[in-house]
Amino acid sequence: MIHTHTMKSPDTLVIGAGVLGCWAARHAISSGEQVLLLESRHVGAGASGGFLGALMPHMPDSWNPKKQFQYEGLTSLDTVVEVLEEETGIDCGYRRCGRVMPVTNAKLVQQIQRRVDGAGKYWDERYTLSFREDETAFINPSVASQGVQADTLSARINPRNYMKALEASIRAHCMIMEGAEAELIRSVGDGFEVELSDGTTLSAGRVIVANGYEAYPLLQPFMDEMNSGKPLGRGVKGQAMLIEHEHDDTMPVLYHDGTYIVPHAGNRVAIGSTSVNDWEGQGAHHFDEADLGFYDKAIEMMPSLRDAPVIERWAAVRPRNTMEGRGTEPFFGPVPGQEGLYALIGGFKITLGIAHIASRGFL
Ligand SMILES: Cc1cc2nc3c(=O)[nH]c(=O)nc-3n(C[C@H](O)[C@H](O)[C@H](O)COP(=O)(O)OP(=O)(O)OC[C@H]3O[C@@H](n4cnc5c(N)ncnc54)[C@H](O)[C@@H]3O)c2cc1C
Repeated sequence: MIHTHTMKSPDTLVIGAGVLGCWAARHAISSGEQVLLLESRHVGAGASGGFLGALMPHMPDSWNPKKQFQYEGLTSLDTVVEVLEEETGIDCGYRRCGRVMPVTNAKLVQQIQRRVDGAGKYWDERYTLSFREDETAFINPSVASQGVQADTLSARINPRNYMKALEASIRAHCMIMEGAEAELIRSVGDGFEVELSDGTTLSAGRVIVANGYEAYPLLQPFMDEMNSGKPLGRGVKGQAMLIEHEHDDTMPVLYHDGTYIVPHAGNRVAIGSTSVNDWEGQGAHHFDEADLGFYDKAIEMMPSLRDAPVIERWAAVRPRNTMEGRGTEPFFGPVPGQEGLYALIGGFKITLGIAHIASRGFL
């Protein structure tokens, strides 16, 4: 049965309560709008609700607007997280811990020098990037055969706590409907109708689509022409493990060949990677025990993790855009030709560090 929800139409309806949707809701609330946030499962149930939480800058050689944007995201997080923590009393587990990457090949040294120069030019002097030939700090020396590249801009956050804090900051100020799956968006008059899978129809002046890789089918009818009928993107799966490992929390993020090792408070270390393209037939949250390449790489980088107890295994799917003329670039903003319809989708592996600014540009 089709029926219309009794709530007065909100100014803004946000689809998806991941880090992007929650930030969009938070910004819209701050602008004084009435906001309805739809979530098919529960807040943080998607790719944002894991435990990896690496906040890694793009390499500062060949600077471009995208790198500048991400830099602004990363450097503003100190204050943003502090405000959220003060407001909610929830510790987001944030620390600017830096990052160390092994240098495995002498040919890379020249490239790293360009990165060192770029950091000197484009990063504030508080943050450094260096090449250390004789020091392999935290990384198995046999992997870092040529030394390491180290930076002090990278950071880490506990994604689940960050999501809890975000949720707590918006819950009292907007309506959050969990278990509400948006199935179809229709443009009507000067607004939109959103049809849910249970038949409910909601209307709003403005709709922000922020439901991760599941946004593609909702957006396809509006962006089909722009994308010459091709798919707007697809989901890329990632897997992670949370490991108990004693450390004094001075450790940086370690990164090599697609695998992250991220130190967290309370003697936890998370490892993971986000590059499984072929996950057809598997559930988005199914942890594939046959795909442990990232675990082997992590052990190689940091052998002391070998016998450490695994506390949790987690898998999720993140969006990867394939939009004409934009490649895999994220899409943050108005959908062309559809006044009042916005999309927040993509951002690859860096969304946790930019969600707070990616979602504010058009609000
Ligand atoms: C294993 C793994 C590790 C990662 N590690 C990092 C990292 O270290 N650092 C980093 O910055 N990024 C990392 N990422 C990427 C990052 O997690 C994602 O890019 C980001 O969380 C995406 O946020 P989002 O808000 O777009 O989507 P999600 O967090 O996926 O949120 C989308 C929400 O929409 C809901 N939804 C879906 N369909 C509908 C519908 N039809 N109606 C209503 N609601 C719906 C979902 O339930 C979900 O809650 C990682 C990703 C994975 C998979």
